[in-house]
Amino acid sequence: MTQLPIYTEEHELFRRTIRDFVATEITPFVNEWDEAEEFPRELYQKVGAVGLFGIGFDEKYGGLGDHDPILLSIVSEEFARCGAGGVAASLFSNYIGAPPIQTGGSAKVKAEIIPGMLKGDLICALAVTEPGGGSDVAALETRAVRDGEHFIVNGQKTFITSGMRADYITAAVRTGGAGPSGVSLLVIPTNAAGFYATPLEKMGWWCSDTATLYFDDCRVPAEYLLGVENAGFRLIMENFNYERLLLISGMVGASRLCFDEALSWARERHTFGQRLADHQVIRHKFVEMDRMINATKAWMEKLAWQVLHGDKPVAELAECKVQASLTMEFCAREAAQILGGASYIRGNPVERIYREVRVNAIGGGSEEIMRDLAARQLGL
Ligand SMILES: Cc1cc2nc3c(=O)[nH]c(=O)nc-3n(C[C@H](O)[C@H](O)[C@H](O)COP(=O)(O)OP(=O)(O)OC[C@H]3O[C@@H](n4cnc5c(N)ncnc54)[C@H](O)[C@@H]3O)c2cc1C
Repeated sequence: MTQLPIYTEEHELFRRTIRDFVATEITPFVNEWDEAEEFPRELYQKVGAVGLFGIGFDEKYGGLGDHDPILLSIVSEEFARCGAGGVAASLFSNYIGAPPIQTGGSAKVKAEIIPGMLKGDLICALAVTEPGGGSDVAALETRAVRDGEHFIVNGQKTFITSGMRADYITAAVRTGGAGPSGVSLLVIPTNAAGFYATPLEKMGWWCSDTATLYFDDCRVPAEYLLGVENAGFRLIMENFNYERLLLISGMVGASRLCFDEALSWARERHTFGQRLADHQVIRHKFVEMDRMINATKAWMEKLAWQVLHGDKPVAELAECKVQASLTMEFCAREAAQILGGASYIRGNPVERIYREVRVNAIGGGSEEIMRDLAARQLGL
């Protein structure tokens, strides 16, 4: 197939390297890991050793330098091919927790955290959502009060990916008055006194670590504040754009895997004297899946290219996230129909992806909130 001009030789080499890595180091083990509701911590070091945490992080810390959203989308798309979204969700909490540290952290804080994260020795997480609500970020209630050289943090966060394992939590806290202008980002080391976490069980992403976090007079050195006090809201919103690209690419990968799994089944399975793939109703299902995946992927590639060239297509990223979750939902449904009863049996990637649809349609900004954001950006 002709290579699209957005992809350089370096991108293609990167894609092949990741595809091999995922096929050998991850795919053979995902059933076992998902059933065990965790994967070995050493996987972080393996991922770090091949440089996969480095996109957008300074070369002086061991990163790959300037941010390339095309590389980010390749990583996420290829990891989705393993058929268990929980692996990428946990590993790449680094890509939502650490970028604000790169952008807003002091030289000392960056030197303390980023090199270890890049090697896979340290895990970062992002904590925005609270038990009282996740969509309305500007209403968050976890409070951080300055006390000399420390902040004293009180409150809770919930549904936090890597919440049990993380070494550093990039937390959205209220340092000022009500609304977005009272919000700051503060890195909270998980060995700080007054911090503890409890695990959550989920519909899908079983091997991913998800937790509720508690801050009980938790003392955090003030040097862990990211950027300027009460100016964290903008950092959070910018970070969401990268998270959305990561999620979109993962959904494209998962949708394509549904298509591939169903196709190999439909070519082998015979009903009513012919291959399942020869029935017109089934053929149309494949065309519809292919149509939606191709459209979503082309849009994703365009957005990655625009972001690479300095655009901030906030409305389109929000719209494309909706497009991607509807595509994934459709493909999971149609692939499951084509597999019939086999799709309902554990260990089948389609069964797992079916259970992973909702978290993609809700996490990182739900479909409703994405439409609302796009409407505002479009000036409606
Ligand atoms: C497995 C998992 C992992 C997650 N990981 C993280 C993480 O690492 N860090 C983190 O900070 N968060 C994380 N989240 C939280 C996720 O981002 C939130 O669940 C999401 O933002 C929605 O927030 P909420 O669940 O509080 O729903 P709410 O905000 O209570 O909304 C509930 C429903 O109402 C809808 N709704 C809300 N307001 C409106 C409105 N104005 N108009 C129309 N509909 C509306 C929403 O779309 C949603 O469907 C994770 C969630 C899950 C399930």
